[in-house]
Amino acid sequence: MARYVIPSWDLPALPVSGTDALFPVRRIHCVGRNYAEHAREMGGDPDREPPFFFAKPADAIVPDGGDIPYPPQTQKLAYELELVVAIGKGGANVPRGSALDHVFGYAVGLDLTRRDLQAAAKEKGRPWEPGKAFDKSAPVSTIRPASEIGHPSSGRIWLEVNGEVRQDGNLSQMIWPVPDVIAYLSQLYALQPGDLIFTGTPAGVGSIQRGDELRGGVDAVEGIRVRIT
Ligand code: MN
Repeated sequence: MARYVIPSWDLPALPVSGTDALFPVRRIHCVGRNYAEHAREMGGDPDREPPFFFAKPADAIVPDGGDIPYPPQTQKLAYELELVVAIGKGGANVPRGSALDHVFGYAVGLDLTRRDLQAAAKEKGRPWEPGKAFDKSAPVSTIRPASEIGHPSSGRIWLEVNGEVRQDGNLSQMIWPVPDVIAYLSQLYALQPGDLIFTGTPAGVGSIQRGDELRGGVDAVEGIRVRIT
């Protein structure tokens, strides 16, 4: 057992359906603009450029049902409901054809974004972390093992704010499906067990306020509910 010079902490982890055992979270990778309609609404070109990635710290996860304090230094907190891939087996330069062998399971997550800080970073060519990688910026649902649900490539992906539908898409609309995302990402980083991948959001993104309740899901996978306090 290693000893540490300051008190250590528990691994960030998520519940898994059908077991008391947890999924330990190592890193959070995120795909930018992976649905054509969302690429357009953000002023981008939905043509099939290679996907791009950013990251959040593992301890940004918030389990399903958690409260999220409105984050500091923003006037424009935005939601992005996304399918999340949980990596169970690591690998670099993973071929597209065997990419799904690396998937432990799937969840649903919110890529919470301080949109005003992200916009300022884009304008000045600065890093995205202040806009994307803040505390509690990654609520994630219970994980459903692929052994239980398979590898969904279609199914409704949706988000309601205070009971009103704001995002309503389908996994089949992804520009880069999960095997492609894994193939590209694993060329940049050796994937490790415990990595999560946020796979991008469909159209309909917008801002949220204190007191808002968010409920969303991917029909083939799982649901999530959080409240902004
Ligand atoms: Mn996103």
